[in-house]
Amino acid sequence: MAGLVLGEAARQADGLQLIAAENFTSPAVLAVLGSPLANKYAEGYPGARHHGGCELVDVAERTAVERACALFGAEHANVQPHSGSSAVLAAYAALLRPGDRVLAMSLRHGGHLTHGSPANFSGRWFDFVGYGVRPDTGLVDYEQVRALAREHRPKAIVCGSISYPRHLDHAAFRMIADEVGAYLIADAAHPIGLVAGGVAPNPVPYADVVCATTHKVLRGPRGGMLLCGGRLAQRVDRAVFPFTQGGAQMQTIAAKAVAFGEAATPEFAAYARQVVANARALAAALAAEGLVVTTGGTDTHMMTVDASALALDAFTARGRLAAAGIVLDTCALPQGGGCGLRLGTASVTTQGMGTGEMARIAALAAAAIRGVERPARLRAAVAELARAFPPYPAHT
Ligand SMILES: *Cc1c(COP(=O)(O)O)cnc(C)c1O
Repeated sequence: MAGLVLGEAARQADGLQLIAAENFTSPAVLAVLGSPLANKYAEGYPGARHHGGCELVDVAERTAVERACALFGAEHANVQPHSGSSAVLAAYAALLRPGDRVLAMSLRHGGHLTHGSPANFSGRWFDFVGYGVRPDTGLVDYEQVRALAREHRPKAIVCGSISYPRHLDHAAFRMIADEVGAYLIADAAHPIGLVAGGVAPNPVPYADVVCATTHKVLRGPRGGMLLCGGRLAQRVDRAVFPFTQGGAQMQTIAAKAVAFGEAATPEFAAYARQVVANARALAAALAAEGLVVTTGGTDTHMMTVDASALALDAFTARGRLAAAGIVLDTCALPQGGGCGLRLGTASVTTQGMGTGEMARIAALAAAAIRGVERPARLRAAVAELARAFPPYPAHT
């Protein structure tokens, strides 16, 4: 295992990590994750635990909750969800009964598995109706959302996506939800880090419950959280524990507190601005290389592109990129129904790269997708770029 850990650290440092959901968390977060807090059982909430000896981990959890509330302007935060999916499950458990109807972005257009996939609890236990993006623009069609809401009268509307590169209009979703008497659940797993950095609109004032991850742009430990108003606080807390989870993972909760502290600094705001600037630069450079960028660009850390003009298909393209050390995902392309590539700039921006490096990445990626350059040569060029921006200080 020691060899695997060192090998994985080298893999992350020697390639270009463009998976939009990944980031390099800080040494302080890693240290807390690997601390003896991992030994502690803590069922329940601070001051009301089912186990003794929780005095110190209670302080850690209260600190995480206070920092989350301050960072996002929320009345209440629950920092116990083990993952983004667990947070969504708990949000549904807090507001819905099995069989209730839910309106969410269809999976083909960028909805997450928890937004009604038949392979997921959501699709099995709830009656999902899907909205999509306009075929001509790739943008959410709010008139379609309104029409579907009026037709199907959902109990809840979910806004959020795994691949939508633009800001969502939370006020429009709120208005539609109010028109039909539905709850609004914002699944902000991707943009919540941009919200923390002040470069994306905050769903908290509009949504009844906000679900999020802490490990994407937010750069914290792998985990989830829920934000809501005081009115729903008790229902949300009970939906997490004891309804959907058991003991809290105190090392992760303490690491979330560290990450929220880091995200409240001016340095993090500057980071978030650079993430978006880099994404815009990368999208423009990829377009100049002949790839078709969905919606023509991005407002966030993420973009999706159709690479079919340069390669046989998205899976071939992903394989060629991986052989060159450029790591990213394939994704559904809402326009045309094909498969594309999803890229994000959270990791490379944490490494300290700027817009100049984005142009270089686009050139390397396009060469890899075209399959004209020898993979070993491309791999060496990718490693040279990546190694100039080590994600962690070298051990001495
Ligand atoms: C990443 C993501 C999730 C799930 O997070 P996990 O931690 O992988 O369970 C849920 N919803 C959306 C929109 C996401 O992007």
